[in-house]
Amino acid sequence: MLDYDFLAPQRIVFGWGRRRELGPLGRSLGQRAFIVLGSRTLQRNGAWDELAKNLRDSAVEPIVAAVATREPDIADVDNLVTILRQENAGSGDFVLALGGGAAMDLAKAASALVANRHGSSVRDFLEGVGKGLHVSEPPLPLLAMPTTGGTGAEATKNAVISVADPPVKKSIRSPLMIPRVVLVDPELAVSVPATTTAWTGMDAITQLIESYICRFAKPIPQALALHGLTLALPAVCDAVRDGTSRPAREAMAHAALLSGMALANSGLGFAHGVAAALGVFADVPHGLACAMMLPVALRVNREVACKPLAELARASLAEVPANDNAAADLLIEHIDALCRALNVPSRLSQVGVRSNQLGDLVRGSRGNSMNGNPRQLDEAELRRLLEERL
Ligand SMILES: [Zn+2]
Repeated sequence: MLDYDFLAPQRIVFGWGRRRELGPLGRSLGQRAFIVLGSRTLQRNGAWDELAKNLRDSAVEPIVAAVATREPDIADVDNLVTILRQENAGSGDFVLALGGGAAMDLAKAASALVANRHGSSVRDFLEGVGKGLHVSEPPLPLLAMPTTGGTGAEATKNAVISVADPPVKKSIRSPLMIPRVVLVDPELAVSVPATTTAWTGMDAITQLIESYICRFAKPIPQALALHGLTLALPAVCDAVRDGTSRPAREAMAHAALLSGMALANSGLGFAHGVAAALGVFADVPHGLACAMMLPVALRVNREVACKPLAELARASLAEVPANDNAAADLLIEHIDALCRALNVPSRLSQVGVRSNQLGDLVRGSRGNSMNGNPRQLDEAELRRLLEERL
């Protein structure tokens, strides 16, 4: 009647201040750590020095191999792989990803490539555009330490890579690519700016809802998503208002982690499908694109996913009506209000989308995420939906 796989990181270490355990955790994976930093900020504000000392104290040599300042492209991954090969990275070594989604994706892709020599570029492994090669050898062990409080990429099995020709974002994906150890210290996110907190928070919320109502939804990820949404909905505005709030930061970091585990096992839907195209063709940051598309996604799926939407409402909101239709509508109204409170633009033109881009956006929205959407849409309907939001 029911069969499924469930994949998750081997070890999750979660807690305020627990970055101090990085040294021993790293030492359990190797003696040399190749670091992918998500920004120079960590180096400037002293956080990196503290972590590097922590590694050295546990006899782990930290080597900064890359700084991911934007979502990685093919050259970023291939360059890092070259560096890792020059250093003879292999047994006794591991990769440490320290940052947001971009750092996670770059580290995941490079640690897989360095161990899988049957392709000459990450392009060969990308879904839809490459040679269709698969990751067959275990990647270098990866320790993922998210610092932006919200993409969940620390718990997923894919890395999203930007391709210039054709302009798309595609994934290299393998169950072997799930990070071995995930260390989440919500305190690392206290200095994340309010806007980033809002967008990454809405990304996590979108991931929780889309994975829960996904065509490929499964029981364990659904349980995680349900819990994640009960944490995130009341906390996201608090985290934006007061970045130092420990309860809000903990709730959002936990919700993001759960969203990553949920999406890696279930899939996503409409909002993530369109968000990928908005990133490629209009340079809209991923979390903002998700936040803008979530209200549309909810309405698109309102009929076919009424029951799961009602379940999400009952778990995470107060005074929810017994009727499923009314409960689903309450969740949609709540998300609308959240978007307004966080100043999420409601029109695509506000983020620079022009009407002559609609064709590209429609075509670019197709792919892995859209395939998980509860309701199947044809191109004409998708175009009409985006046009209405222009
Ligand atoms: Zn996302």
